[in-house]
Amino acid sequence: MLRVAVVGSGPSGVYTAQTLVQQRDVPDVRVDVLDRLPCPYGLVRYGVAPDHEKIKSLQGSLRTVLEDERIRFLGNVEVGGPGLSPERLLGMYHAVVYCVGAARDRHLEIPGEELPGSYAATDFVSWYSAHPDAADDGFGLGAVRSAVVIGAGNVAVDVTRILARGEAELRPTDIPQPALGALARSGVREVAMVARRGPSQGKFTTKELRELGTLPGVDTVVDAAELALDPDYAAPGGLPPANRRNVEVLRGWALDGVPGPGGSRRIALRFYLRPVEVLAGPDGRVAGVRFERTLPDGRGGVRGTGAYEDIEAQLVLRSVGYLGRELPGLPFDARTGTVPHAAGRVLREGAPSPGEYVAGWIKRGPTGVIGTNRPCAKETAGSLLADAAVLAARDVTDDPVDALRTAGLRPVEWRGWLAIERAEEELGRSLGRRSVKIPDWGGLLGAAEGH
Ligand code: NAP
Repeated sequence: MLRVAVVGSGPSGVYTAQTLVQQRDVPDVRVDVLDRLPCPYGLVRYGVAPDHEKIKSLQGSLRTVLEDERIRFLGNVEVGGPGLSPERLLGMYHAVVYCVGAARDRHLEIPGEELPGSYAATDFVSWYSAHPDAADDGFGLGAVRSAVVIGAGNVAVDVTRILARGEAELRPTDIPQPALGALARSGVREVAMVARRGPSQGKFTTKELRELGTLPGVDTVVDAAELALDPDYAAPGGLPPANRRNVEVLRGWALDGVPGPGGSRRIALRFYLRPVEVLAGPDGRVAGVRFERTLPDGRGGVRGTGAYEDIEAQLVLRSVGYLGRELPGLPFDARTGTVPHAAGRVLREGAPSPGEYVAGWIKRGPTGVIGTNRPCAKETAGSLLADAAVLAARDVTDDPVDALRTAGLRPVEWRGWLAIERAEEELGRSLGRRSVKIPDWGGLLGAAEGH
């Protein structure tokens, strides 16, 4: 038997486990999928926005994999934390595949970034996704009239959309009750989503962009003059199809000059503005963001013009990408935020480290959609299986669950997760809603233990 630990139960971890047990070349592969949280599915549970129910339904297929008899889910197990170093874990399994994602937010490195009222978009995502590590401070939404979202990727689109949505649209989702309440009391009228480059260079996907124009009671606008700064705007025919479609969607929202906010909520997409400072008001909280106007430099980048524009905001969400986090005991390239590897084999001082592998964002960086993890997981699983004969020759612990308990951990097994699911359904019923996520560690672990 080949015993493998996969660390991380998001799409890359689950696809890796699936590839390992469903192949025919190496018989009897058993996989434990470990997660730091008591709940599985990684960013599908804790990143995909609650109103994206179609993408969320992917949990159903991940679930089928985790219920395979050759696979075990072990939640509440932190690798790299007290008691469980990568070295100790490798003593329990023939191989370990790290699929730990990219859990840090990128910083802007501009003055004022840390002012009260300025947050990483990922903090906001964690909050509305009920991540048990998220602070429940409500983001002061009651006092926010204008919000600025910096960045033009799908995360920026997600947080912009959730800020603009009404309570009635979020109530049927699994959004945690405190976040629903805070969003219902939100004073937000205007959300400016601001890109430092042009419309043809947005990182968002067309489907997600287009959705911003479909929100009930929300006007979505773009200043035609900003669109026209893009050399590809007038003739988008030469662009790759995805970028061309984005430009076409943006054209549909173009206005000559953006009017002041009307009665309804409004999303303004802004382009060619580079953030230079988050501005404080007299109370020391965020009052706006100063941007420098940029122009295309002819090589896909932009250059500054020395002209500035301040956009008022009582809330700033910085959505400029994720970065991998160093896991103590694993090699890490701080420049790329990834673990050095060759075809998924972890490299220590340039040479493959026997038994250690990576897949997903910690391997290739935080890019691509969920499906991108399939070929990525396949490559890593292929490398592991090619090494199987050597890996299986090493003696490992008989029962990893016992060994984890000896290390002081309290793994939440699959039945514990099912108990959490039931508790979330009960919570939803008590609130007159569908299943509602439990947002805190105490509640999750209590539910897993059946009380
Ligand atoms: P992303 O796609 O890499 O976008 C980051 C954005 O931040 C870009 O617009 C980038 O502009 C901008 N940026 C970076 N540094 C900046 C700076 N210093 N100042 C101003 N702007 C800056 O990252 P993401 O939105 O976090 O998404 C991560 C991944 O998750 C992506 O692959 C995304 O597609 C995926 N995702 C998918 C969905 C979905 O499918 N529904 C939802 C959420 C996330 P430049 O282009 O100029 O660098």
